[in-house]
Amino acid sequence: MSEAKIIDGKAIASDLTDKLAERTKDFVAKSGAAPCLAVVLVGDDPASAVYVRNKGKTAEKVGFTSIQKTLPADTPEDELVSIIETLNTDPSVNGILVQLPLPGHIDEAKIIDLIAPEKDVDGFHPINVGRLGAGNFDRALIPCTPAGSIILAKSALGDNLSGQNAVIIGRSNIVGKPVAQLLLAENCTVTIAHSRTKDLEDVVRGADIVVAAVGRPEMVKGGWIKPGATIIDVGINRVDAPEKGEGKTKLVGDVDFSEASKIAGAITPVPGGVGPMTIALLMQNTLTAAERQWGQSQG
Ligand code: NAD
Repeated sequence: MSEAKIIDGKAIASDLTDKLAERTKDFVAKSGAAPCLAVVLVGDDPASAVYVRNKGKTAEKVGFTSIQKTLPADTPEDELVSIIETLNTDPSVNGILVQLPLPGHIDEAKIIDLIAPEKDVDGFHPINVGRLGAGNFDRALIPCTPAGSIILAKSALGDNLSGQNAVIIGRSNIVGKPVAQLLLAENCTVTIAHSRTKDLEDVVRGADIVVAAVGRPEMVKGGWIKPGATIIDVGINRVDAPEKGEGKTKLVGDVDFSEASKIAGAITPVPGGVGPMTIALLMQNTLTAAERQWGQSQG
């Protein structure tokens, strides 16, 4: 059995950010201002802090300005609401991202609803969810991880995914459901599997494309995979790694990479697969948002 092609998300993301940096130069030349991304972090979750820092760094690399608002974990909901309202109406801010999860006392859905849809670079606002569902891609902002997953699938299979059997494991609003919508728009035959799915292994065995977005380390075994299938592993799980030394940890996906890479046609690694794409697509959404806002201001 030949080894699967490893889909290099890091390289693909880096190519995309290079292209975005060029497009940003054109945008700055015509509009006179760099796109601006505002990232709001509430609390001191270390993983969230790393994500936010990386987002800010990449934004600056691409040629954007970035604003970071870091608020204490006990920030009252009202205060967060008023910060978002200010960012919504500030014409110099093109994209707003509120890092999730928010502390328990803040109503996440209420906060997402409040972000101006045209600045909602995460693509989580109900207006953007609706536009994605309706296939209105010219006006939607598409969630970053799902959009990145499709680019990776196409890097292995080519641009035409029509007729492929796609199985998505996981039905979250931020990954599973939007990935399903995107694959449907690509004319795939889409199955969404989840925690109540019967005979998950059998369902996965029928898939030409598997997108795993569960959050369970190495749950999908090699024996579940149809030979030659394309595997997009969205999961990021930190597990103990005693082989690296006492107390050490490592990141693994939702797919057992060592088994699946012997059977699949192509597979994304964790880390270095979907993760880097998420940030690149966030930059794409911010630039797209800035271009649309500038276009509208020109009448
Ligand atoms: P979530 O917890 O919101 O959803 C998990 C989904 O998995 C649920 O829909 C549930 O029905 C399903 N599920 C749970 N147990 C299952 C089982 N035994 N069999 C089948 N389905 C099962 O998670 P999420 O936010 O969608 O994230 C999923 C994973 O993707 C996590 O590991 C997360 O860290 C990762 N993630 C990665 C990126 C990235 O940039 N690469 C972005 C977002 C999320």
